[in-house]
Amino acid sequence: MGRLDGKVAVITGAGSGQGAMEAELFAREGAKVVATDMNDEHLGELLERLGEQYPDAVIGLRQDVSKEADWQHIVEEAVGTFGKVDILINNAGITGITEFTLNKLTIEEWDKVMNVNALGNFLGMKHVIPEMKRNGQGSIVNISSLTGISGLGGLTAYSASKGAIRTMTKGAARDFGGDHIRVNSIHPGYIETPSTEYLTSNADIRDALIAAVPLKYLGQSEDVAYAALFLASDEARFITGEELIIDGGQTIKE
Ligand code: NAP
Repeated sequence: MGRLDGKVAVITGAGSGQGAMEAELFAREGAKVVATDMNDEHLGELLERLGEQYPDAVIGLRQDVSKEADWQHIVEEAVGTFGKVDILINNAGITGITEFTLNKLTIEEWDKVMNVNALGNFLGMKHVIPEMKRNGQGSIVNISSLTGISGLGGLTAYSASKGAIRTMTKGAARDFGGDHIRVNSIHPGYIETPSTEYLTSNADIRDALIAAVPLKYLGQSEDVAYAALFLASDEARFITGEELIIDGGQTIKE
């Protein structure tokens, strides 16, 4: 028996990194998966891989999470194909330009990052929640970041967008708890995916990142995906508005 048997999950940014791992893990655990991504190549590779193993369980759709019309389309397709939406993993995100301190950040760059990360996350919840209400329950997992709690120099827009995800998660958890909709956020530290290759491909930086982690390795996509699986599943039925840090102990608090 799978941990997500009978559930329908929408996963954004599912073509790469953590989202791809979540799509695979969720299908393995019995969910029907609506995998979306803006990158056709990534999405094509995912569908080729999962299509053979889970032919009736996974569909792939192109989506820009910052576009409201795309969200309307995704929810319609999910309901049309699988009948409902139980789970949303708001995973798609971009880092943006990494070397701009706040005083050098342009409005264009700010808007780009905020639109994908913060607006995209908000739109996902906005369009999925009515369907979850109709369905009588739901679980939303918003992928924030450690930077959404502590901020990171040079990543002003990214940190702000991830902080917005953290707090809108808690607001939504309060608003929709009575509808049996749970909303939680995940805050990964450094995870080895294509989005961190610009850091991890440099041996010195990589060693420094590992040295800062008590568990002494860089997080892998499955480390986040298993946490998303737990929060998405009924095993977490009494958990909402929570923020789960996954960082190998990097920010252990007293
Ligand atoms: P990733 O490997 O870069 O995968 C993200 C996927 O989302 C890519 O296929 C990307 O396409 C796609 N995407 C970009 N913009 C999109 C949009 N507007 N609409 C739909 N899809 C879009 O990322 P990841 O490292 O797995 O990260 C997943 C999430 O975790 C992100 O929200 C990220 O901020 C967060 N996170 C990651 C880390 C880490 O260390 N990796 C740490 C903390 C938080 P392109 O490749 O074409 O852009």
